[in-house]
Amino acid sequence: MTRGWYVLLLLVMIVNYEPKLDYSDALIVPRLSDVKSRKDVNLEVGTTFNCGSYWTGVPIMAANMSTVGTHDMALVLSEYKMITCLKKGGEYYVTFATTYPDKEKYVSLSLGLDAESKLFVDSATINDPTFICIDVANGYMTEFHNFTKKVRQKWPKSILIAGNIVTPEGVVALSDAGADLVKVGIGSGSMCLTRRVAGVGYPQLSAVIECVETATALGIGIVSDGGIVYPGDIAKSFVAGAAMVMAGGIFTGHDECGGEIRTSASGELHMLHYGMSSKTANEKYNGGLSTYRASEGRTIEVPYRGSVKHTVQDILGGLRSACSYVGAFNLPDLYSRGTLVKVNRTINTIFESHEI
Ligand code: 5GP
Repeated sequence: MTRGWYVLLLLVMIVNYEPKLDYSDALIVPRLSDVKSRKDVNLEVGTTFNCGSYWTGVPIMAANMSTVGTHDMALVLSEYKMITCLKKGGEYYVTFATTYPDKEKYVSLSLGLDAESKLFVDSATINDPTFICIDVANGYMTEFHNFTKKVRQKWPKSILIAGNIVTPEGVVALSDAGADLVKVGIGSGSMCLTRRVAGVGYPQLSAVIECVETATALGIGIVSDGGIVYPGDIAKSFVAGAAMVMAGGIFTGHDECGGEIRTSASGELHMLHYGMSSKTANEKYNGGLSTYRASEGRTIEVPYRGSVKHTVQDILGGLRSACSYVGAFNLPDLYSRGTLVKVNRTINTIFESHEI
C-alpha cells in the first residue's frame, strides 16, 4: 500500500466526515395536508411495550433534574397526560405514588448508579412502577448494564427507560439489558459541559435518527434527551423517529420548579437552575466534587416565567402546528409523513440576530 493510501485509510478510521445534524441544522418540510384545524390533531399515543405494559398519554417528559422533576411539575404535566421523570431518589417517587395514585402513570421513578439508588433496588417492596428511568451520563459502562438488568428483574412490568447513549452500539447494549426505551443524548443538554470538558458527544438529531434504525429492528423505542430549545425541536425529534422526548431547560424558571425566586439589581426576577453533574449538584447531593472528577454541568439563573402551564401550551400548540403542516393527524403520522431538510446556518443566524 502506498503511503498516500495508508494516510487516507487512517483518516477515514479516525474522523467521520459525514455531516451530522443538531436541531438548529434542520427544518421540517411542509406538504399537502388534509388537517383543517390544529384541534383535529391528537397528540396522545397508545403503546404496548416489550415488558407487556400498555401506556397511553402524550409522550413528552420533563427531565429528572432537581429543578425540573418535582411533584408540583408532575401535578401540572399530568393534567396534560405528559410525564415527569421525578428527581432521583426512591422515596421521592414513593411519596408521590402513594399521595396521588391516579397520577402515578404520568411519573417515573428515577435511579442512577449511586449508593442510594442501589439500596432502594435491594430493599424496596413496592409494586412495579409504571415507568422507571435509570440514567447516567455515560450509558456505555458495563456496570450500568448490569444494574439495568437487575432493575429489569426486580420490576418486570415497568416500562424501563435507560441511557444515555448516542450510537447503535449503545442501543443494542441497553436493549440486551432489558430497556423498553433507550435514552439518546450525550453532550446536547442545555446545562451540559461534556462537549467542552471531555470533548465527547454527538449531534442530537443525527444521534436520534441513527439510533432509531437499530431500536426499531430490536422492537424498542428511543427517547430523545437534551437540546430542546424551542417547541419546534420537539416536533423535529418526532419526525426523526423518537418515541418520546425528554426536556429540562424548556421547563425551567416556573413556579413548579420549586426554586427560590431572586430579584436582580435591575429588578428582573430569576430562578436558579443547574445541571446534575454541576458543582452545585455535587455539593448538594454528593458532599462535593471528588478530586478525580471535573464538573460537567453548568449553574445558571433563568428568567422567572410564572406557571409552567403557559410553556406546556406553547409546546403542545407548536407540535399541533407542525402536524398540520405535514398533514399529520397524530404523532405516528408526523413520523411517517414528516421529512427534514438541512438548513443554511448562516441565514438562520442572520435572522436570529435581528429578532426583536
Ligand atoms: P435540556 O433539555 O436542558 O437541553 O437537557 C436536559 C438533559 O441534559 C437531561 O435530561 C440530562 O440528560 C442532561 N443533563 C442534565 N444535567 C446535566 C449535567 O450537569 N451535565 C450533563 N452533561 N448533562 C446534563
